[in-house]
Amino acid sequence: MSKDSIQYKTEAEIELLRESSLLVGKTLAEVAKILKPGVSTRALDELAESFIRDNGAIPGFKGYGGFPGTLCISINDEVVHGIPGERIVKDGDVVSIDCGTYKNGFYGDSAYTFAIGNVSDDIKLLLQRTKESLYFAIEQAVVGRRVGDIGYAVQNYCESYGYGIVRDLVGHGLGRNLHEKPEVPNFGRRGTGAKLKEGMVLAIEPMVTLGDYNIKQDTDGWTIRTIDGLPTAHFEHDIAIRKGKADVLSTFNYIEEVLKKQQ
Ligand code: MG
Ligand code: MG
Repeated sequence: MSKDSIQYKTEAEIELLRESSLLVGKTLAEVAKILKPGVSTRALDELAESFIRDNGAIPGFKGYGGFPGTLCISINDEVVHGIPGERIVKDGDVVSIDCGTYKNGFYGDSAYTFAIGNVSDDIKLLLQRTKESLYFAIEQAVVGRRVGDIGYAVQNYCESYGYGIVRDLVGHGLGRNLHEKPEVPNFGRRGTGAKLKEGMVLAIEPMVTLGDYNIKQDTDGWTIRTIDGLPTAHFEHDIAIRKGKADVLSTFNYIEEVLKKQQ
């Protein structure tokens, strides 16, 4: 599905991408309301699918490459692409939820990682710093910088805490296709890679591990987990490249309002 060349978007197309991206944030907030010990990942998935359809969109991941769910739910040592099912969320779990929407011909794609109940300080910091690294990356996502500046920002910050940066999975261009050019790695060298220009829309998504960055795929053909079994975090925003400051199309605000009320 990925296009061979970068697809530059018009302002009207960026507004449609914003609508799809905002719907992901609203969907994840609905999911956050019932994300507690004892809930099954299937229940989370069903809620997300009906909410997306009630809002005139379709799940962006369902059927994509044959993926069976609306959400990718990846717990603890699972990095991404976990399949929703019978698994029950437990106290102490780290639950990464990645969600895609498709509406008006454009995709939204955003992810958030939740700490369930009593989680160690090490893990809380991993989540906090992975999210911070996403915002440092977004600061670099402006006209005149390059893709390598984005990756460097994530890598430089996260490696300063000894975390691993997953190499084999990357962010991407976003538009009429879920995965477009360019690839947006979470590591890199400053001043290298594709030049960032107005009209580019990127999904930036640090995947960061508490230990080593090496990963493997389960026999289900989807779930990706760390080889050393240590937990991971994943946060993803969709952004449009602008002069001076990136335009963040997705949002965590709805999710974090729900989390605040739960405290
Ligand atoms: Mg995603
Ligand atoms: Mg993505």
